[in-house]
Amino acid sequence: MKKHLILLGAPGSGKGTQSARLVESGFTHVSTGNLLRSEIAKNSELGKKVKGILADGHLVSDDIVVELLKANLNLENNTYIFDGYPRNKKQSETLDGILEGHDYIAVYFELNLDILIERITNRRTTKDGKNIYNLKTNPPKVEGICDVTGEELIQRPDDTEQIVRERMTVFKETIDPILEFFRQKGHLVSVDAQQAPDQVYKEITKNLD
Ligand code: ADP
Ligand code: AMP
Repeated sequence: MKKHLILLGAPGSGKGTQSARLVESGFTHVSTGNLLRSEIAKNSELGKKVKGILADGHLVSDDIVVELLKANLNLENNTYIFDGYPRNKKQSETLDGILEGHDYIAVYFELNLDILIERITNRRTTKDGKNIYNLKTNPPKVEGICDVTGEELIQRPDDTEQIVRERMTVFKETIDPILEFFRQKGHLVSVDAQQAPDQVYKEITKNLD
């Protein structure tokens, strides 16, 4: 059985980009951000409740997110990459509980936060968030169009400079107890996420043996 992966890192640190590569080696990607955005796109009751919270760059309540996460997990048949969950100590404890009896590592994407505004404001994605580009460092072949699916690329409404700054503040206020939790459990590894995507991928996969 392979280890489940919990990706920890600031918004824009590259978790989604690495997840797309890891999916090719058999992992199943679960992103709480993508799940929430999909509820918003469907205009479901849950989507209506959380839309403003995402737009402001704040965290959705633990109860809402864990319900959505659990509804999308099938631990018997999949090896998961958890992306965007946990976001605080309580969520860390919850996920550790969900993964009881399963092997996992938590991978911290370490980098200088000063580079992230530039990275995120240049991010463009498919509507489902799965195909990720960067106007400066990884542009699509045809402007505004996904190389893989041919759909139009979008900019997330919370990827503006002002909201990214708010999301960074939230990240800085919450990350330390999460890292401490997984360090104490003996599950934490760090990767240098400022390297090129290929190098980051190599560092992550080194920890999977
Ligand atoms: P996250 O999922 O952590 O929010 P993403 O994977 O969406 O981050 O990456 C944010 C932006 O940075 C995207 O535009 C992506 O193309 C770009 N990016 C991701 N990894 C790297 C990297 N190692 N070096 C440079 N740019 C990167
Ligand atoms: P992300 O796609 O991970 O950048 O998340 C986008 C937004 O979704 C965040 O700014 C939060 O509003 C919300 N969100 C995603 N995951 C969580 C979570 N685990 N707990 C609370 N809010 C979340």
